[in-house]
Order: sequence, then C-alpha cells, then structure tokens
Amino acid sequence: MHDRTEGRIIIDDTTLRDGEQTAGVVFSLAEKKSIARLLDAIGVPEIECGIPAMGKEEQASVRALVELGLNARLLTWNRAVVSDIQASLDAGVVAVDISLSVSDIHIEHKLRKDRVWVKEQLKVALGFAKQHGLYVSVGGEDASRADLDFLVELMGIARDLGADRFRFCDTLGILDPLTTYATVRTLRSKVPDLDLEVHTHNDLGMATANAIAGIRAGARFVNTTVNGLGERAGNAALEEVVMALKHACGLDPGVDTRRFVELSQLVGRASCRPVPPWKAVVGERVFAVESGLHADGVLKYPGNYEGFDPAEVGLDRLMVLGKHSGGHGLRHRLATLDIALPEGEEQRVLKMVRRRSQELKRPLSDGDLRVLMAECCHAA
Ligand SMILES: [Zn+2]
Repeated sequence: MHDRTEGRIIIDDTTLRDGEQTAGVVFSLAEKKSIARLLDAIGVPEIECGIPAMGKEEQASVRALVELGLNARLLTWNRAVVSDIQASLDAGVVAVDISLSVSDIHIEHKLRKDRVWVKEQLKVALGFAKQHGLYVSVGGEDASRADLDFLVELMGIARDLGADRFRFCDTLGILDPLTTYATVRTLRSKVPDLDLEVHTHNDLGMATANAIAGIRAGARFVNTTVNGLGERAGNAALEEVVMALKHACGLDPGVDTRRFVELSQLVGRASCRPVPPWKAVVGERVFAVESGLHADGVLKYPGNYEGFDPAEVGLDRLMVLGKHSGGHGLRHRLATLDIALPEGEEQRVLKMVRRRSQELKRPLSDGDLRVLMAECCHAA
C-alpha cells in the first residue's frame, strides 16, 4: 500500500460505517464495493468500512472490501473490547478505530462505570491491537462533552501505548466552529506528538464548519461521509469538506473532485436518500441561474457569480428561464435552441415567460419555450 498521505490533510471517509449507521440505510455488498472503488479511484486515502463485531456477514463484507486491493487504507470501527478487535483481525484489516466513551455523561449514564475503568479498557484494547501490529485511531466518543483534562490524560495514555492518532468526536453535533477550534488547539498543544482527527455531526448544521475549524486548529485527519449521510442529521459531507479545504482554506487534500456528482448520486441511490437539488457542492441545481442580473453577470464572466467552476465537481451551469429572467438569459437560451427572437419583441416575450412560469410554478423547459415562441410569433 503506498502512502498517499504525506504532509496532507487526510480524509477518512466513513460513508460505509457511520453513513450506513443512518437509521434505515443499508448497503448491499455490491453497493459497498462500488462506493469503496469510487472513493479509492478519486484518491480518498482512508475508508472506514464496517463493524466486524456485528457478526459473520459484516466480517465477510469487510473481507470482500479488503480483497479489492484498493490503495486506500481500510479501517474498521471497534468498541474498546478485545473480541471486537479480534473480529477485525479476522476480517483481514490492518487498521482500526477503537472507540470508547470519554464524557462523564456517557461514562456514568451509558457505561455505568468510572474514569478508571475507561482508562483500563483503553490500555487493554489498545495493547491488544498494537501487539497484533494494527494501525490504531483511538476514538473518543462524545469527546465534545468530555472534561478536557481527562481527554489530555487519555491521549497521553494512547500515545504512550503506540496509538497512531486520537479521534475527537463531536458525537452529538453540539459544537460551533469557534469552540471546536479552541478545543482542538488545546489538545494539540497539550499532546503535540499525537495526531488528531475530527469527527463532526450535523445536528446544528455545523458539521462541515466544525470539521474545517478542527483542521485549521491542527487536526490532520478528518472524517466525512458522501452527501453528509450519517447518524441523525449526518456527518460532515466529503464533497463539502474537500471543496471548503480547496477554496476556503487553500489546502489540497489530493482528491479528484470531478467525479463528486457521480459519487453523490451513487450513494444517493444506494442509501435511498436522493440528493436535494440545492445540496451544497453536488446538488443538480446549485449552478442554476435565473435572475436577470446574475445571468448577465455569469454570461459576461462566470467568475462574477460562480465561486468555482461547476465542472470541477462534475456539474453543469444551468441557465434557467423563469419569473426572474431578463433579456440576456432569454437571448442566450433562444440562441442555444436556434430560435430567432423577432426584432423589438424581447420585452413582450419576457413578459410571457414570466407569466407562464408563474402559472407553472417552475422554470420553462425547452419544450415550454418552443410552444411559447410559436404562440408569440403566431400572435404577432
Ligand atoms: Zn459518528
């Protein structure tokens, strides 16, 4: 396996684990393979691909993904329990996430244990994984509600026992970017010799923003899912995180973005969660232009109203003719259909376009426009 990750921000995509954990979402093995292959083909360096402890079937599907021989590093998700890690070893992976609850709320009310017990679990599970030569990310579940000093203590233990990184999880999606930044920065400075990963959820609509804040604060690894699929409101979306890194932060995570729409639609179909047309980055209508001012601006120079080229993610610009359209948009659209606009008729046709789109409550299709032009010229 060659290392695609040197010096880069490393995307660990968990569509096949946290994504599949979305209530009601199940991928077939064939779908898992297609998704893993496409993630690998576009250069995603890590794929979290399942939970072998769930049973024989999941183990077999993880093994089938391992056997694809991808360049991406495959990780599995495990509780901090030796039998979970053994199941991952049996499935043939060489990298694991070992997750344990780290907030007092979880320790008291979910585990019904104490911090001492948590530290022991970590030592035993991590010790076992390292004895077997596994690459280990130690996952701090509910880390965003945990006591910071306790997190630092756990990270110290993890580092001393050979963990490769610590996953800071905002399991409930309750952080904002400023708090995420401050917390990750603190952890980074207190335990500078252990890499950090951020795992953010979208309950308050801030998963991507928090992931970016975590990276800016020094995390080198970031969890994503395609379309932001995941528990409850989902995770940080792969396509958003990558494009934000490129265009908002000037960082290149080395992913070929041109197949993002293809990937998004594949996961949309496999998860039976169709992608909303307005979905950031990959929604089919996020580059639709209707308003006269914007259409004029984009036609003169796309950079006037497009933050990046739609082709960069596999989308096309759509010039939509509707209630807000102006002369430029109309002339452009008629030209693409090879229909001549009779001299002095622009305002009358525009009026008809606006009225028709209000009646239809949608923009005009090519067919609508042909009919309208036939009527218009006939009437004229
Ligand atoms: Zn999660």
